[in-house]
Amino acid sequence: MTGQATTTWISGPVLRARAQGGFLLREAVTVGEQRLLGEVVRVARDEITVQVYEDTSGLRPGVRVQGSGQLLSVRLGPGILGNIFDGLLRPIGVGTERAGDDPWVLPGMRESAAAKFGFKPRVSVGDMLRAGQVLGDVSTGNGYAQRCLVPPDFPPGQVTEIAPAGSVADDVAVCRLRDAEGGEHAVTLSQRWPVRIPRPVGQRLPSDEPMLTGQRILDCLFPIARGGTASIPGGFGTGKTVLLETVAKWCDADVIVYVGCGERGNELAGLLAEFAELEDPRSGRLLLERTVVIANTSNMPVSAREASIYTGITVAEYFRDQGMNVTLMADSTSRWAEALREVSGRLGELPGEAGYPAYLSSRLADFYERAARVRTLGGATGAVTVLGAVSPPSGDFSEPVTNHTRRYVGCLWALDVRRAQARFYPAIHPLQSYSSSARGLARWWHSEGCTRWEQLRRRFLTLLEEEAKLERMARIIGRDAMPARQRLVLFCAQLINQAFLRQSAFSEIDRYATPQRQAVMMRLIGSFIDSAEQLLNAGIAPEEIASAPIFRALMRMGEEIPEGDWERFSELDRELAATVRRLTGQRSEAEAGD
Ligand code: ADP
Ligand code: MG
Repeated sequence: MTGQATTTWISGPVLRARAQGGFLLREAVTVGEQRLLGEVVRVARDEITVQVYEDTSGLRPGVRVQGSGQLLSVRLGPGILGNIFDGLLRPIGVGTERAGDDPWVLPGMRESAAAKFGFKPRVSVGDMLRAGQVLGDVSTGNGYAQRCLVPPDFPPGQVTEIAPAGSVADDVAVCRLRDAEGGEHAVTLSQRWPVRIPRPVGQRLPSDEPMLTGQRILDCLFPIARGGTASIPGGFGTGKTVLLETVAKWCDADVIVYVGCGERGNELAGLLAEFAELEDPRSGRLLLERTVVIANTSNMPVSAREASIYTGITVAEYFRDQGMNVTLMADSTSRWAEALREVSGRLGELPGEAGYPAYLSSRLADFYERAARVRTLGGATGAVTVLGAVSPPSGDFSEPVTNHTRRYVGCLWALDVRRAQARFYPAIHPLQSYSSSARGLARWWHSEGCTRWEQLRRRFLTLLEEEAKLERMARIIGRDAMPARQRLVLFCAQLINQAFLRQSAFSEIDRYATPQRQAVMMRLIGSFIDSAEQLLNAGIAPEEIASAPIFRALMRMGEEIPEGDWERFSELDRELAATVRRLTGQRSEAEAGD
């Protein structure tokens, strides 16, 4: 018997109701005739408090609340990939019917209707199966192979029935299992999972493989591991959205989960239109086909936004459990935290820092801690990597969301207003950012043949640090008054910034770089720095070194030399050697003439 209740009080997305029968904390409920979806967030003896995930305007006291007996959950299945959903994984429409391009959602909207998919069994009657094991392959028609697993909360059991290869609806049993006690369990292609509970795994694995983004400043200076986490704080207009979208387009994940959280609807519609046309460089197919978009734009009910990041990560775990590498991006977690704050206020909770509830920090932890590289229950390897944008009000990184997030992430990619204003993109500040995975990933770069990766990375960072100090000095005493060695540091740092870290998301050639191209560029810049020091020691002025044509050529290599054109990079190598010979030769001639 599921509980029923009668609404006594409504405030925005929150209502209280007099309960008849039992309700569970976090139980999913429906409200009124429209069957608006809600979740029980507080249970007292005869009163429940419900957070409603839809527009509550027009609701009155007296309206009925119907329990479901189940925790708030979403239906995960093969039909998710390539589609767009609201914060509770209900399909949403874009563009048509409603004004403007904003995504829209209908009140009381249901989950996707059952659909048919191709199924091919991998097990036979009599086989013993455990939770998380693959029992068949699923094809969706767009070419991305998916799998059907024994749900993670099933006891071990013996196959008593298995569907033959063919087309099956995702809500009918493809397999029946009998457990040790004789209980029967039916497996369907689509399966429910409560969003706030992490899906279980076999084992967490160390993160020693990079999640490549194609962005040099990230992959080489602040790399993220598969299963790692990164926070991207940045004020308005510093490039958070462009960065997340760029990573979504070019990173080496099998599946992308993009959570658009409280950002403008037209931005999201733009993203969808772009993804729908963008060819995936790895498969030659459309990027959208391996993307799941979860949208709770600013025009949609605020409370569903609170659930959306958990829904997003649940979807990511679902694909991870099939042995895939998934990258989830959330833009922006600040809008999510604002939703949390608003709902908390309606619940009458005591506000903490900046009005956020005291549990802001633990909720952020709940989210980021679900990122991992794992051995799945079924024995496969998969990962969920999480990137979250943070938009601190007026760009102040000491505010609560930025601050608490920092405690739970392995990488910080801090966007800098001054760099953005100078149109230096990506505007990641090399001195405010960090990665705790760099050491662990050095071995990977080594195995790819880039043996000096760790050394060059440190060298670059040290030069950039020195640059920051010297610039302050240059402002006071003037650049000309500085010693030659320091002037050379400034030229080398300029080269690192302009030739390596700067990378336009809109450049056909440079919008992404393979690790091979990144390694070649890194090595070339390293060679230039070595040569420049050698020249300086031979008495050549820094200005003379920096005015050599090779300096300009290196500056432009990102924009000019495409992937795979290794010959042109080798030419730069030869030109650098020739420059060193020419400058030292001139010098010794001049000396001989003295
Ligand atoms: P935010 O999401 O932080 O408010 P956006 O990502 O919307 O900022 O970026 C604002 C503008 O900055 C973009 O419209 C674009 O013109 C420019 N921009 C940001 N990042 C890049 C980039 N990596 N390459 C080129 N232009 C960029
Ligand atoms: Mg943005």
